Amino acid sequence: MRIKKHKFPGVYVFVDEDGSERIATKNLVPGQKVYGERLIKSEGEEYRIWNPSRSKLGAAILNGLENFPIKPGSKVLYLGVASGTTASHVSDVVGWEGKVFGVEFSPRVLRELVPLVEERRNLVPILGDATKPEGYRALVPKVDVIFEDVAQPTQAKILIDNAKVFLKSGGYAMISVKSRSIDVTKEPEQVFRDVEKELSTYFEVVERLSLEPYEKDHALFVVRKP
Ligand code: SAM
Repeated sequence: MRIKKHKFPGVYVFVDEDGSERIATKNLVPGQKVYGERLIKSEGEEYRIWNPSRSKLGAAILNGLENFPIKPGSKVLYLGVASGTTASHVSDVVGWEGKVFGVEFSPRVLRELVPLVEERRNLVPILGDATKPEGYRALVPKVDVIFEDVAQPTQAKILIDNAKVFLKSGGYAMISVKSRSIDVTKEPEQVFRDVEKELSTYFEVVERLSLEPYEKDHALFVVRKP
């Protein structure tokens, strides 16, 4: 059993006794589990196994994502933070030099995140509606990366509206698109093409990746603000 570095800074690969590999992040708050994930100790450090069936970003990395703009020290705006499953790994990756601003519009869901952030202080929970970025403008500075996972019909517009306010020029955004949230009557491929077209009115589209088999009819886009 050992831990090795992944090609993306801040991401690790856990190699188990039987040779099987999983991705992991270094636990920013040793001893803290966020969603029942396995904790591994190696050479005085603690790592959290990143479950791709619970996290679309984890699924994307395992599916061969080529561009991962979230790095140690990054400032990230996370839209649809929910109870922090994926955002906690993002918080591990950016570390104490970085910050994650997590927007969620369900008070019930956000409440689950509150006990975690008492120690995980680089993750800032914000009760807000991602369709109204003005509502949290005073709480969020300019960021390096926006990550969006809101599963809403207007999610491409939501990303563009937030990028206009918060994303630095040359910054990146990542968006998980669930085709059925946008249009159940259309073929997923058609939905993804339409989303790509809308994103490219504002961004340069850098990468598109399927999240199958972890998530059915989902794609993840990486885009850059010129
Ligand atoms: N990204 C999370 C993770 O991997 O841990 C899961 C996110 S879940 C698929 C989508 C979340 O987006 C839900 O918690 C939902 O309440 C939230 N959401 C949907 N529309 C939103 C909006 N307009 N503003 C803020 N949050 C929203």
